[in-house]
Amino acid sequence: MNCNQLKGVVRIVIILLPIYSFGQKISNDESLKNNHPVDLRKIVSSFDCGKIAAADTSSARNYLLQTIPNLKGKEFSLQFLESKESKTGLHYLYRQNYLGSPVYRGNVKINLDRSGNILSLFDNTYLISENPKGQFPSAENSNAVIKKLYPEEKEIERSMIENLYFDTGENLIPASRIEIWDESGNFFELIINSQTEVVYQRDLNTYFNREIITLTDTPAIARIFNPDPLTTAGVTYGTPYEDAADADISQLNMQRQQVTIDVSLENDTFKLEGPYCIISEHSIPDVVPVTSMTPDFEFTRSQDGFEDVNAFYHINVYHDYVEQLGFNNIVNYGIWVDTHGMGGADNSNFSAAGSPPRLSLGEGGVDDAEDADVVVHEYGHAISYSAAPGTNSGTERNSIDEGLGDYFAASYSKSINPYNWENIFSWDGHNEYWNGRVVVSSKHYPENLMNQIYKDAELWSSTMMQISDDIGRERTDEILIESMFSYSINMTMPDAANLLVQADVLLNGGGYVNPIKYFLCSRGFIPCFIGIDETSSDTFSVLNSYGFAAKNENVVIQFSSPQIGNIEIADATGRIVYRESFSASSHLEISPKSFVNGIYLTKITSDNFSSCFRLMKW
Ligand SMILES: [Zn+2]
Repeated sequence: MNCNQLKGVVRIVIILLPIYSFGQKISNDESLKNNHPVDLRKIVSSFDCGKIAAADTSSARNYLLQTIPNLKGKEFSLQFLESKESKTGLHYLYRQNYLGSPVYRGNVKINLDRSGNILSLFDNTYLISENPKGQFPSAENSNAVIKKLYPEEKEIERSMIENLYFDTGENLIPASRIEIWDESGNFFELIINSQTEVVYQRDLNTYFNREIITLTDTPAIARIFNPDPLTTAGVTYGTPYEDAADADISQLNMQRQQVTIDVSLENDTFKLEGPYCIISEHSIPDVVPVTSMTPDFEFTRSQDGFEDVNAFYHINVYHDYVEQLGFNNIVNYGIWVDTHGMGGADNSNFSAAGSPPRLSLGEGGVDDAEDADVVVHEYGHAISYSAAPGTNSGTERNSIDEGLGDYFAASYSKSINPYNWENIFSWDGHNEYWNGRVVVSSKHYPENLMNQIYKDAELWSSTMMQISDDIGRERTDEILIESMFSYSINMTMPDAANLLVQADVLLNGGGYVNPIKYFLCSRGFIPCFIGIDETSSDTFSVLNSYGFAAKNENVVIQFSSPQIGNIEIADATGRIVYRESFSASSHLEISPKSFVNGIYLTKITSDNFSSCFRLMKW
């Protein structure tokens, strides 16, 4: 979106409202490109970067306040937002405050093992060297914007206004963030400046609390597509295997399979409700969830109950799969699913606006809930939200989330039936309605990035598919989900790649690092290693680490532009054995002569970045 186009506040906002970044479909709409500077900004990331005294949130906060350059000074504070625990670590999310007001997306994510070792650190704070000029918008003006959008207050489920500092791409300005969740399910934020102009907007997800119902399970018989009628029939889309307005075509109905599902019994009525999925009515059109007086949920595809049962079955199977991988805090609530939603559009979404979060599946074209690929793709966003809430911001980060959903869908579908596994949304897409997507892209990073989240998603989904085919689906998914707990806003695919490698080291002692690195390096996400670790990034390269290790030659650190800062090298016990300051240098050399054999952790801190890498000497 181009800020210059945002003159008529109300008109523009209404045009863009139907756009959800969590939809599963591709669109040619230019406005879907998240190309605002706050979305394109790349986070400063570092891995295996030191240790703090204890792994609790206040020790972590103190450490961050002392070490992050943009947080130095009494004007700054750090506000704790989220904490999550994974199999191998603790994951804390904070946000930067300046003079008591938040800096929009000035987040820091720190990931620790239980001893306080810093596994990774993602720093998206902003440098503020002088007080941002101007005034915060007045409360009256912010309320007037809401009033213009919603003349009737009852159309709003929830709204809030907060003053913060926002980066326009040129400078930080005092601004207000308006967040609205309306009765139609729209959930979005607007940033307005002191002239009440909208300078940024997007859809959103957050929690508020409401009681979750738990019910007793009863087995029932059901009929479903597994994963979709084209895959089981071994055919591609075409007569008679066509949507035909959701009609009861016998060839399609014959593809239904009989399964047993756990439903709930309330008084005399069986309902599609369980601890991890509740079929609900929360998105128009109003179609009441199907119930039954007997434990029998066998429907043909023209009946509304068929979509309810299909989504209910696949979500429960996928939930049980994730739990069986050893994750008991991923989507550990009854997610609401409306299989006749989205106002009949040919799209679906995941929204965390309400509690519990919910999926809405549209019925345009082929009903989305008839295709397990669509159901599991959307459920993938729920998995990601459970692991790392509040982090799906930034263009490349959004693409990773779409890629995850596509990978989860494709690998699930392939595990049931490999026919045409390369295509995702085999039944819903690849037809007259839309093109679907594939998970066998040959795109290479970064030159094939388009800053279009669905197109870029192929880079991530195709790589995950390659790894899964090589080392196995369950192993891949355990490593992948563990790595997702460390996700941050504005992270890049190379960041996600490094987290994946790190998760294998933590879970399996690096048992699958070689095949994982092979596919990540072939895709361009991480440097291809020759001998031992050679590191290169946008900001610096480490050269001749092999000469340093084995041949008593200097290691060379080359900066892309002159830097002021220092370098510290610690041995395996954490003792600093080498320290050097540099000023306006673009080239450093370190001699191995004073180093004994062993592994060393090297940390570079400059005005512009902070990074760690390993050195060895043998
Ligand atoms: Zn999606």
